Amino acid sequence: MSGAHSQGPGGHGRGSGDFVFDMRSLGRQPGSFRDETRTAHAPGGLGSGLVLVPAGADVALDLRFEAVSEGVLVTGSAVAPLSGECARCLDPLTSSVEVSIQELYRYLPDPGEDETDDEVRFLDGDRLDLEPAFRDAVVLALPLSPLCREDCPGLCPECGVRLADADPLHGHGEETDPRWGPLRQLDVSDRVED
Ligand SMILES: [Zn+2]
Ligand SMILES: [Zn+2]
Repeated sequence: MSGAHSQGPGGHGRGSGDFVFDMRSLGRQPGSFRDETRTAHAPGGLGSGLVLVPAGADVALDLRFEAVSEGVLVTGSAVAPLSGECARCLDPLTSSVEVSIQELYRYLPDPGEDETDDEVRFLDGDRLDLEPAFRDAVVLALPLSPLCREDCPGLCPECGVRLADADPLHGHGEETDPRWGPLRQLDVSDRVED
């Protein structure tokens, strides 16, 4: 980062410019390509119930932009940190997610040519905004049941203790279940108060 403020005001309610790439150098010549690595700051709101990509976290982008006849083909990968909690023991966890990206960004259709297909991504002039593609890829890749470790034993269903910390023989047989204690005491008592 140089000291210059390279990102203009430019926010139209969209993310930072971190995911925007300038395609001018490709010259719209099919076959020309450019490789670029970049660290971008994660946009907010990227997560599911249990895990999320922290807003502003560093996302490592490793991309190739290749001009093809109808637009620019982006291929590469993105690696983002994850934080959340273990689905079994609810401990905080940190992890990361790597997604591969393969997206065709088409040149804008000619005026009058109606192509409003949601599935199609377009270049904005010479600007390619990778953020929507990145979002879609990450959302699909988020683990539904993130675990602090592969074999996390979770919590005891009876008392809620973390089984990873508990005695290996931790359990609640009928003999030791504290809820039955008072009942047993009643059973052995023959006294009837009158
Ligand atoms: Zn766990
Ligand atoms: Zn227990």
